[in-house]
Amino acid sequence: MSADPFDDLYRELILEHYKKPRNHGPIPTAPIHVEGVNPVCGDEIHIDMNVDEGIIKDIGFWGAGCSISQSSASMMTDRLKGRPASEAKDVMTEVRAMLIDGAPAGNDLGDLEALEGVAKLPVRVKCALLCWNVLDQGLTQAATTA
Ligand code: ZN
Repeated sequence: MSADPFDDLYRELILEHYKKPRNHGPIPTAPIHVEGVNPVCGDEIHIDMNVDEGIIKDIGFWGAGCSISQSSASMMTDRLKGRPASEAKDVMTEVRAMLIDGAPAGNDLGDLEALEGVAKLPVRVKCALLCWNVLDQGLTQAATTA
């Protein structure tokens, strides 16, 4: 038996986001640019975002690295674009609990639920968390410049 922690549906969803990332590419007019790296795997994520009156009006990402790091970012932007920054923080808390503590995925995570199996792969947890740590910086900047 294989030790693959992903079921087929989730694996397909991760690859689909990797091959066709949502909200991909810089947003030249965005006031916030944040970036981060995961040296363990060589992953790199950049995020441009525009937070206006507490709403994530626009968010785009680009970078390089493994399928987990890039698809996590794609799913993240897909889930959070147009949503309140407060909701983004709640989703971030939920994703971290899922990835770090192995908590069950909540119903409101959407495609992000596909990353549930990453919790069983300690080496890949940092890959999946990278974009969230970068987003965290962006939300902090948005809160201090608002
Ligand atoms: Zn990685």
